[in-house]
Amino acid sequence: MNQPGSEPIPPLWEPKPLTVREESTAEVVSVYEVAPRDGLQAETVVLDTDLKTEFCERLWASGVSNLEVTSFVPPAWIPQLADAEDLAARLEIPDRNDSAVALVPNIRGLERAYAAGFRAVAAVASCTESFARANLNTNAPGTLARVCDIASAANSLGISVRGYLSMAFGDPWEGHVDPARVADLTATLYEAGCQQIALGDTIGTATPGHVRAVLRAATSAGVPTSALALHLHDTYGLALANVYSAMEEGITTFDASAGGLGRCPYAPGAAGNLATEDLVWLLDGLGVETGINLDDLVATSLWFSAQSGRPAPSRVVSAYAARLAV
Ligand code: MG
Repeated sequence: MNQPGSEPIPPLWEPKPLTVREESTAEVVSVYEVAPRDGLQAETVVLDTDLKTEFCERLWASGVSNLEVTSFVPPAWIPQLADAEDLAARLEIPDRNDSAVALVPNIRGLERAYAAGFRAVAAVASCTESFARANLNTNAPGTLARVCDIASAANSLGISVRGYLSMAFGDPWEGHVDPARVADLTATLYEAGCQQIALGDTIGTATPGHVRAVLRAATSAGVPTSALALHLHDTYGLALANVYSAMEEGITTFDASAGGLGRCPYAPGAAGNLATEDLVWLLDGLGVETGINLDDLVATSLWFSAQSGRPAPSRVVSAYAARLAV
């Protein structure tokens, strides 16, 4: 068996997909890679900065063009990401800030990210009270106000802002989340200066018709589809069906995590993020361009899994690994 990630994996077949793509869906989709931040934040172990540095470099080399690198939270909150400044310096973020994003929890985090060279940030608001209190240390309106403050300050620095809306579909404590409420919150973030709003299916309960309902409510509230992204989890196995449904609604940005790293510690039983390899497999098969080389990305995830001891739950990575093992 080859050493994972040591050499290129032979393709299954020449990429000449016999495909019929819906003309209403995009020819190019933007993949927003979250593994170094969302994936590693959920880990119980603190990984070495050298390993994170190489992970990010390999993700960029695989063709990832939007990479959420780390989070500028107070180190005591999330020890796994306490090396944010060090990581940014090693990655020479000021020279590649067109493809790097940092999560920031507050204005102090924004200032730290700016000083480290980031020119794009993301911040999290919650659609539900329970998640806001369990995860974000305030109430739901408080999370919204915080993101609006960050957006205002960031825009005056010339920094772009992505607003996350967590629990935009279902909530483990409150159940179904009203699409009209999600639409209102989405419009508020858009009007506050967030260039992009990522609707989070944080516990992975969304289904394709529900996705349509939320997206249509958001666009009816005045938010263009070009400003919307989806952050999907695969708890019930419908993340890719939800992607396809959203593509038919005109959405062109999807979050994903290399190898499927990450889970939601606040949502018991929630599976990890949609795996980037699974998403790219779908999009390659549809003839939709992402700029990501799937073989290189799988090799990166196998390498990272071997180095970190963290399994890669992605089905596509598992299928490649099985081919390597025979
Ligand atoms: Mg996630």
